[in-house]
Amino acid sequence: MSIKENLIEIKKSLPEHVTLVAVSKTKPNEALLEAFETGHRVFGENKVQEMVQKWETLPKDIEWHMIGHLQRNKVKYIAEFVSLIHGVDSFRLLKEINKQALKHNRTVDCLLQMHIAQEETKFGLSAEELNAVVGSEEFEQLQNIQVCGLMGMATFTENKEQVRQEFAFLKQNFESLQKKLPNIKILSMGMSGDFDIAIEEGSTMVRIGSSIFGARQ
Ligand SMILES: *Cc1c(COP(=O)(O)O)cnc(C)c1O
Repeated sequence: MSIKENLIEIKKSLPEHVTLVAVSKTKPNEALLEAFETGHRVFGENKVQEMVQKWETLPKDIEWHMIGHLQRNKVKYIAEFVSLIHGVDSFRLLKEINKQALKHNRTVDCLLQMHIAQEETKFGLSAEELNAVVGSEEFEQLQNIQVCGLMGMATFTENKEQVRQEFAFLKQNFESLQKKLPNIKILSMGMSGDFDIAIEEGSTMVRIGSSIFGARQ
């Protein structure tokens, strides 16, 4: 199947309240344009330099989502145009995003990333760290960021029950956070291999790459 066919098929299968982020990392502009031609506008990248290059050369109405681990010293390159940063995992990063967003006179939407997997390699905050971030006095003073929800990645495993429990844990934390931040709406969880489970557990945003664009090198 072609990129177009994959994308249309997946979109049709998603409930209306679930947003699709087409994860185009490592793929050439031509691949993104093929998806773009179906009317799709939301793309996810995990490397700053690659995202900047694509932003510079592709149509300006694309919404760029940074889904990878973001280093503070690279925020300045994307602050002008990024529409959602999924992987915010420290207060220092949030402060830097706020600072760079202010320079461009904009508010940048962010998701706080929680560590939900039983793998050491995945970034993210614990429940305690999350509470410390949103509970701090300084947090209230950040005028140029908007926390819109949470993001998480489940363990890469065949054990579907484990994946489900990890997503359910993220959902619980999302609901507790809603008590403090009633406006949060986005729960970003689910990739090619597990987005069906993620949606059953309450995802509102799925990040799908290989099922649309094919396997990466
Ligand atoms: C690469 C990536 C995805 C997409 O992965 P697929 O398995 O190709 O769908 C989703 N989220 C993050 C954070 C990624 O880095």
